[in-house]
Amino acid sequence: MATYVKCLIIGSGPAGYTAAVYASRANLEPVLIDGPMQGGQLTMTTLVENFPGFPDGIEPFQMMDDMRRQAVRFGTRCVSGIVTKVTFDNPADETQPEHHVWVDNSEEYIARTVIVATGASAKWLGLPSEKEYMGRGVSACATCDGFFYRGKTVAVVGGGDTACEEATYLAGLCRKVYLIVRKPYLRATEIMQQRVLNNDKIEVLFEHNTLRLTGEGKVQGADLIYKKDTAEAEERHIEIDGFFLAIGHHPNTDLFADSLERDDEGYIKVKGDTPCTNIPGVFAAGDCADPHYRQAVVAAASGCKAAIEADRFLQTR
Ligand code: NDP
Repeated sequence: MATYVKCLIIGSGPAGYTAAVYASRANLEPVLIDGPMQGGQLTMTTLVENFPGFPDGIEPFQMMDDMRRQAVRFGTRCVSGIVTKVTFDNPADETQPEHHVWVDNSEEYIARTVIVATGASAKWLGLPSEKEYMGRGVSACATCDGFFYRGKTVAVVGGGDTACEEATYLAGLCRKVYLIVRKPYLRATEIMQQRVLNNDKIEVLFEHNTLRLTGEGKVQGADLIYKKDTAEAEERHIEIDGFFLAIGHHPNTDLFADSLERDDEGYIKVKGDTPCTNIPGVFAAGDCADPHYRQAVVAAASGCKAAIEADRFLQTR
């Protein structure tokens, strides 16, 4: 039997929990579906240092647990499970739409408003050897797996904030860290760049790309190419025990491919500065709709906006 709800929130990152805090305080009695990764991608970071209000930083698990408790305190019901199917209603007139959402292929919810806050996931290079060595030296999360590489040599791929953060974190554990950057410069913010460039355990390999990983049953090395596609192109081998990917993310929106308008990269399209999607009563918040900022504080703010819009939507119908 289906459960009727005024507001269903999909996702348990900063956007989802903030939407839940606001929706529950507005008496929308929200149900929040956790998704595959409770707490969202923020839990893959080491320490959250840039969320206002935490001058000494805060452990990501602590932060997400606090947000969850805050949402629950005001009446949010958190449900463990993964949304497997949605059908969003789009009535031609101004009547109340009924959006159907299935959790784990069985439990059905019929929601008058839905807030999509499904976040984004790490990208992979797409090398065949990446898959071959998955869990045997290849990782997309230094915080999760760095511990296994204490005293060893590892490589991180990417030139953004994530790559610099992961390289700095790993330098605290490992003997040596290579940072493989495809451009002749880092894209990361100045403070993150300085942490990397001033760390003598980190060697930045600018203008390098990875050709393949090598090793007997586990990662033992990587073949790189310097200045690919130029006359100076040169192959180089590095000996490593671990290979960490930090090359960005793609939005977790495949589930909505048939129902919500998305851009070429899969980010949900919203109307102007609002969280409103092309479907009345369905709102998008956080990284699933944000190709630009992708910050926890921005995600939280957009969750707040989505809950306010959901409340207004219900009040006007
Ligand atoms: P970004 O998109 O900013 O950076 C991705 C990096 O990976 C770029 O250097 C890019 O290279 C490189 N890259 C992409 N594809 C490939 C490829 N196929 N081969 C080799 N390199 C590749 O992603 P991030 O995850 O670093 O950051 C996302 C957002 O999150 C940013 O806004 C960032 O500021 C924020 N963030 C903030 C943190 C903090 O403040 N503590 C921590 C982590 C992230 P190129 O430059 O050539 O495109």
